[in-house]
Amino acid sequence: MKMKRFIIASLASLVFVVACQKVPLTGRNQLMLINSKELLPMSFTSYKEVLDTSKVLRSGSQVEMVKRAGQRIRKSVEAYLTANNYSQVLEGFQWEFNVIENKAVNAWCMPGGKVVFYTGILPICRDETGIAVVMGHEISHAIASHGAERMSQGLLAQGALTAGQVGLGVAMANKPQETQNIWMGLYGIAAPAAASVGYILPNSRNQESEADRLGLTFMAMAGYDPRAAVDFWQRMAQASGGQKPPQWLSTHPADNSRVSNLQKLMPDAVKLYNKSTGNTKSTGRR
Ligand SMILES: [Zn+2]
Repeated sequence: MKMKRFIIASLASLVFVVACQKVPLTGRNQLMLINSKELLPMSFTSYKEVLDTSKVLRSGSQVEMVKRAGQRIRKSVEAYLTANNYSQVLEGFQWEFNVIENKAVNAWCMPGGKVVFYTGILPICRDETGIAVVMGHEISHAIASHGAERMSQGLLAQGALTAGQVGLGVAMANKPQETQNIWMGLYGIAAPAAASVGYILPNSRNQESEADRLGLTFMAMAGYDPRAAVDFWQRMAQASGGQKPPQWLSTHPADNSRVSNLQKLMPDAVKLYNKSTGNTKSTGRR
């Protein structure tokens, strides 16, 4: 009897281990019914499709700034995750930072480190530090496996995975079309005008504040002044007045609670920033 109970308890904890994952830095437990690595082939295909159907800028100061901010934040992300035993999160990543010429006020990062900035968001970013605010936030969604978390929720809701089942392969075998649709619903390509624009459905409130916190930390570690984040969100809020509100705002509300959360996190982020710029004077703030 005791043995039976022991086996049941072990099985239950095994399911928990497989189905749950901790977010780096915040430590939040997330429901994870698939391995985020399983999403990478779909992500890379979708990303390529966006690039193939868009006007990708190859050179110029805007491209240089986006790529430099991306690489610097990538380095701090890799250093942090390696030092904290989270490097498995980055398995299979194929980082890429691209700028698409399009008025859309938007930027995103698909699973596996596939980043796009639209030229429409660059005036609101204003400079490289502003780009680092958006870059840090978007990369953090990928680092925190928010895509796999949302996919897990979708698979459960659509019945593609039932109790005790895990894995994208299982979901594909159960309900191939639904599984494909959930992905396309989260990370799809819309063609509103001449050029197509990739889109990503809004994250949950939890995921948003998590990406804010991680993003602030990683930009500071990369030597970008995190205080620029508050200014950026205020400029973004101002841009919502007038004509069409920026696409970014529909997925990222620039409300008071976001700004006050950022302000709460600021003292620690500034410490990290001072540490990183003190240690690397030559590559400090740009
Ligand atoms: Zn976000």
